[in-house]
Amino acid sequence: MSLSEQDYRNILQKYEEKRSRALQQRDLRIQEVYERIPEIGRIDRQIESFGIRSMQAYLQSHEDPVQLLKKVRTEVEELRARRSFLLRLAGYSNEDLMPVYECPICQDTGFVDGKRCRCFEQQLIESAYDRSHMKNLLQQDNFKHFDLDLFSTAKRENEACSARTQMETILNAVHNDLEAFPSQGPINYLFTGSTGTGKTFLAGCIAKEVLDKGCTVLYLSAYDLAAQLSDRRFHYRDGDSSSDAWQYMQDCDLLIIDDLGTEAPNKASAADILHLIDLRLQYGRSTIITTNLELAAIGKLYTDRMVSRLLGSYRLMRFLGADLRLAHLNQVP
Ligand SMILES: [Zn+2]
Repeated sequence: MSLSEQDYRNILQKYEEKRSRALQQRDLRIQEVYERIPEIGRIDRQIESFGIRSMQAYLQSHEDPVQLLKKVRTEVEELRARRSFLLRLAGYSNEDLMPVYECPICQDTGFVDGKRCRCFEQQLIESAYDRSHMKNLLQQDNFKHFDLDLFSTAKRENEACSARTQMETILNAVHNDLEAFPSQGPINYLFTGSTGTGKTFLAGCIAKEVLDKGCTVLYLSAYDLAAQLSDRRFHYRDGDSSSDAWQYMQDCDLLIIDDLGTEAPNKASAADILHLIDLRLQYGRSTIITTNLELAAIGKLYTDRMVSRLLGSYRLMRFLGADLRLAHLNQVP
């Protein structure tokens, strides 16, 4: 799957719109401030015209340029201090008059030092894959919506603790890891547990945090992943193995593979998935895998090498309790 030039142009166009929107809103705020405190408008005009006025002064008086510059600097500093004072007095801060960009790293230009910003890479990923699912995942799933009360405090038979206690432990570990991410290295999680215990939801919350840190995220159901990998194998035979989709699968900062096992793997797809997991470990990229399968079943369905890789390099997190979606339905009168 390759991005068309049109896709690329659309992304650039969106950046332009975002940036001009941010600047427009800043201008409106400035206008409002000028109306409320006209002196600030006068100060801004003075600061703006300093360059031209100093040049004129120099041409007329031939004053020592070093001295002149010093004088100008002092005057500008004084004006800025007065401006800050007036703003504070009216309940504003200097930041209120700055544009608010969606991405402060590239200031909504999409580029930093001539290279594509992480937010641009993320746009490319979302354009290359199923946008709708990724957007849904990120809109609904975030830690603000994480309600621990949904998890039962009752301990079920054969389980070491209640679903709630277990979720508190998991959340603690995740928060600690995220605090140190990405500077302290990648995070690799294997979320196991039955359907509806919150695995995908938590993966979505983590995805949101990782994106907010300016990193790229790709979410794929195991089914879609297997389809992409088989597609790649097919093209590999044709001599074209360098698709964008494959690049993103390898390179994105966080890859979420949802519902491992539901894709009904065959020998080739199992080997492909292990290869991808290995590459990501090698490159130090983070991966979260969710599955209903126990480790023994993973061994059977894939290989023992897959199990040993997961045991060796992934943090295992077991989700306990009953299906939250069903529990929620039962509460509806
Ligand atoms: Zn950016």
